[in-house]
This record gives sequence, C-alpha cells and structure tokens, in this order.
Amino acid sequence: MIEKILVATRNKGKMTELVKLLRPLEITLVSLNDLLIEEEIEETGKTFAENAIVKAERYGELGGLPTIADDSGIEVDALGGAPGIYSARYGGEGFTDLDRNNLLLKNVKKIPDSRLTARFRCVVALWIPGNKTVTFEGKIEGMIRRFPSGNNGFGYDPIFFYKPMKKTLADITSEEKEKISHRGYAVRMAREYLSKL
Ligand code: IMP
Repeated sequence: MIEKILVATRNKGKMTELVKLLRPLEITLVSLNDLLIEEEIEETGKTFAENAIVKAERYGELGGLPTIADDSGIEVDALGGAPGIYSARYGGEGFTDLDRNNLLLKNVKKIPDSRLTARFRCVVALWIPGNKTVTFEGKIEGMIRRFPSGNNGFGYDPIFFYKPMKKTLADITSEEKEKISHRGYAVRMAREYLSKL
C-alpha cells in the first residue's frame, strides 16, 4: 500500500492538474519543492516516454519515494509533429507562453486552416522502488486556432481548438479539461493502476 508519492514537476499548471486528478486515491502527494529537491534534469530523451521515465526514476531516487512524472507537449501535423518534445522550450530561453503561442502561429501562417490538425500528448511515468517503471499515455486531438482565446489553463491552451466543445482549452474550466485532456486520461490510467496495488 503506497502512502506517499512524489509528484515530480515544477510546472504550477501541471501540478494543480495532477494533484486534482490523484486526489481520490487518498495518497499524500508531495512536490519537489516540499522535498527541497533542486536538481534540474535535462530532458535528453527522444520521446515523451523516455523523458517521463528519466524524470520519475531520477527524482524518485533523490526523494526516496514512489514518484510520478510526466512529459507532454503539442504536435502540429503540418509542422512534422513540432514542437513535440520541445514544446516547453519552443523558441528558446526567455520565451513566455504567449511568445511560444505567437511563434507557433507565425510558423503555421501559410498553412490552410483545414490542415491545422494537432494534438496534445502526455506520458505519465510511475516509478516504485524495486519495480520496473510503468508508463501511461493520453492524447487529445484538436486544431490550431489562429486567434488565441480564453484565460484558463496554461501553455498552448488558448490556441488549441477542441471541436466537440467548439472552444479552445483555455475557454473551458479546469474540471472540463480534466475529463477530456491528454494528461487527464494518462493520470486516470495511472490512478487506476495505483488503486489496484
Ligand atoms: P514538459 O512536459 O514540462 O516538458 O512541458 C510540456 C509543455 O508542453 C508545456 O510547457 C506546455 O507548453 C505544453 N503543454 C503540455 N500540456 C499542455 C496543456 O495541457 N495545455 C497547454 N500546453 C501544454
């Protein structure tokens, strides 16, 4: 029976979403800041899964606790899947979410609306000491919207249009997003897995 899990992220938006999604488990969740872990792990993997696994294992080792880590990003089909695993770093250091959204919109300027298909993908890795790390993947399909809309969420949410709701992910509430999002899906699978241990 697991009593405490380290949630290995420093991204506030992601932390909030992960904590909410894992709450039903009645497991105490601690963050990297709670454990005073300062080490930054370089995301050198070639896939979301590789990066999530490295983070879960390394931070797990540092924290001495079962650890959940995720790696996620947005893939734009017309850009060959970019920014993909580089989503957080798109445009380089010093860029804000707004700068990254603007850069993405600039890069798709010449692409017709009908080809602006994209998806968010998320891989959650769960490392439990003495066990092989397990991963869970979720995705959500949508379209890039040329004009940002909405104030909720984070990252690329304002330019990600979700057709079934006719809104961007920044136009919907966090509760609505949890139900349909890549992270919601992956974390719910991890939650299922944890609830059976
Ligand atoms: P990482 O998983 O911390 O390496 O970063 C993922 C990056 O992808 C974030 O910094 C965001 O830019 C983007 N991203 C991932 N999930 C979401 C989401 O749910 N909404 C908006 N942007 C996201």
